[in-house]
Amino acid sequence: MTFVAGRRKGQMSPSAEVVCSGLRGRHTIAVMLLSEVGYARPVTLEQALGLLGEHDGARALAGGQTLINVMKARAASPDVLVDLNWVPELKGIELRPDGTLEIGPMTTYTELIASPEARARPILAEVCAQIADVQVRNRGTIGGNVCSSDPTNHLPPLMVAIGAEMTIAVTGGERTVRAEEFFLGVYMTAAGPGELLTRITIPAGRSDGFAAVPIGRDGTCIVNAAASANGELCIALGCVGAVPELVRPSSEDPEAVREAVRAAELQPPGDVHASAAYRLHLAEVVAARAAATAAERGSE
Ligand SMILES: Cc1cc2nc3c(=O)[nH]c(=O)nc-3n(C[C@H](O)[C@H](O)[C@H](O)COP(=O)(O)OP(=O)(O)OC[C@H]3O[C@@H](n4cnc5c(N)ncnc54)[C@H](O)[C@@H]3O)c2cc1C
Repeated sequence: MTFVAGRRKGQMSPSAEVVCSGLRGRHTIAVMLLSEVGYARPVTLEQALGLLGEHDGARALAGGQTLINVMKARAASPDVLVDLNWVPELKGIELRPDGTLEIGPMTTYTELIASPEARARPILAEVCAQIADVQVRNRGTIGGNVCSSDPTNHLPPLMVAIGAEMTIAVTGGERTVRAEEFFLGVYMTAAGPGELLTRITIPAGRSDGFAAVPIGRDGTCIVNAAASANGELCIALGCVGAVPELVRPSSEDPEAVREAVRAAELQPPGDVHASAAYRLHLAEVVAARAAATAAERGSE
């Protein structure tokens, strides 16, 4: 098979010609392709940060489960993909003596689900096991999930509810922000151009809950909620705004939780899957369910 493709960057209906010389006769098939894009494979964090800093149009590539799809849809057209899959500093899960977990952003959902260390905070594997299907879980990463800042993703509300901290590096320095400061908007996070999320720190705790109403069994969430009752009850709602919405009910009593959600005056979007009013109703329902689970685990 001979592959003939020219640079098609910026073209609205990109196509390339594939000449199948192995078949009887000669066939020309139009196929959809990504725009031409550079590819870099750093093997250290320093190299990765250097590449991202040098090229304005560079973008980190983690599992590619979101990024490649948005590139195919022409919603993003990076000039260079900086593949993080070969950078060992960004992988792995470490359990500290005080029960704190340090998770490398390039940890896949499947690796986290299988990790003995991650069992220190059981809600992590429980929620990762609900994400999409096995192919997505094998490739998709914890860091890619939060850096996408897709309001329908499972992990942003979870990270906010359990009080995760995000370490962001740039050449020559790093800073740490709380998860609730990390999510800035749809597809926008505190990790800006030239920066990388390098570590997610999860405090110890077991009294957590998660509840969601998805589209179909493994589908995208219509509304989700993560709750943590390790100390003050804290609930983060997803799919009801650009970033997770944090509410702190006075108790896990379902009516107190519903009242706290109502008091937050959420303004969720309406779409083909759910009207804004139905999402508001679901927000109360899933918040109460997540809080009840968190409280129940606290009393075990
Ligand atoms: C069919 C399908 C169904 C899905 N369903 C769900 C679902 O139900 N729930 C859910 O939560 N997710 C779902 N997803 C999304 C999936 O979880 C993705 O894996 C995730 O959103 C992105 O992770 P990734 O590793 O693939 O990142 P990529 O797609 O490689 O990257 C995503 C973004 O994050 C940036 N990025 C990645 N790593 C870093 C880093 N360390 N520092 C800074 N920026 C970084 C990239 O530059 C890019 O902008 C689904 C995906 C598919 C294809």
